[in-house]
Amino acid sequence: MGEIIYGTELSAERKQKLKERVDGIKAQGKRIPCLAVISAGSDAASASYMRGRQKACDEVGILTKVIVLPEGSRQADLENAIAECNDDSTVDGILLQLPLPKGMDEERALRLIDPAKDVDGQHPLNVARMHLNKPGFVPCTPRGIMAVLARMGAELDGCQAVVVGRSSLVGAPVAKLLLNANATVTTCHSHTKNLAEVCRQADVLVVAIGKPRMITADYVKEGAYVVDVGVNRLPDGKLCGDVDFDGVFDKVSAITPVPRGVGPMTTCMLLENTMKAYEERQVW
Ligand code: NDP
Repeated sequence: MGEIIYGTELSAERKQKLKERVDGIKAQGKRIPCLAVISAGSDAASASYMRGRQKACDEVGILTKVIVLPEGSRQADLENAIAECNDDSTVDGILLQLPLPKGMDEERALRLIDPAKDVDGQHPLNVARMHLNKPGFVPCTPRGIMAVLARMGAELDGCQAVVVGRSSLVGAPVAKLLLNANATVTTCHSHTKNLAEVCRQADVLVVAIGKPRMITADYVKEGAYVVDVGVNRLPDGKLCGDVDFDGVFDKVSAITPVPRGVGPMTTCMLLENTMKAYEERQVW
């Protein structure tokens, strides 16, 4: 029977440590770390993520600067907002809320973020650093997944790891991080043949596809460590992951639930990356 690793619990512990660090900064009378969140358009999901992130910053004492570009804003407005945050020495981290509305150029916008403030690791320089296994900002969800695997006690060195999904936000970077940790990594996607057979080889299985409960017991090796990144809304309004949690639970060593699994870790890593940016910029 598997162990359930709750991201809610792990992130609460890490946030408490962050709060203590921010309290220490306050006690020394230094400038307080600040995260700028830029969003464009009126996407309801983005608005809810924004509120969640603001609340998490409040909990640990990190300041937020929220810039909401109204509907109909243009690329130039977005770029001005990014430039404003780059130039503002009191801003340590910049998070651009994705996806951007149609007509805005995401790649160009991400390229304009100061790499030293790029707390979601999306600037090409930080992407390159991760691929070269050099220090830099690592995207929040993949970093959160690695923290979960560490908590599970999964031995990554020399293990067989399978990542299902190859997006630039989750699948591709997590595969690289696992490789950096000396796992032997296979990345799967929608063209992969015999997916279940490939997944059954995995000591560590990370699933980020966005297909409700697609990964059943048939895909899972006995004793595997399973991280379910998917967040899917069912017709009854409830959330579920990409893994059939109840079906695989008896087979795994450890597994994350959905909700309360990877999601809270993503937010927590955003806070940790903001603190890292603050400390590395040394603008007190
Ligand atoms: P994308 O849609 O960008 O990527 C999905 C990936 O899954 C693609 O690489 C795609 O393959 C692959 N895929 C789709 N269908 C299959 C299939 N039948 N078999 C094998 N591979 C398949 O999604 P994201 O990576 O952004 O997100 C994935 C999931 O994770 C979503 O549910 C999302 O909501 C969730 N998520 C959760 C976060 C959290 O904090 N908990 C953060 C970010 C995402 P191909 O490349 O060939 O199209």
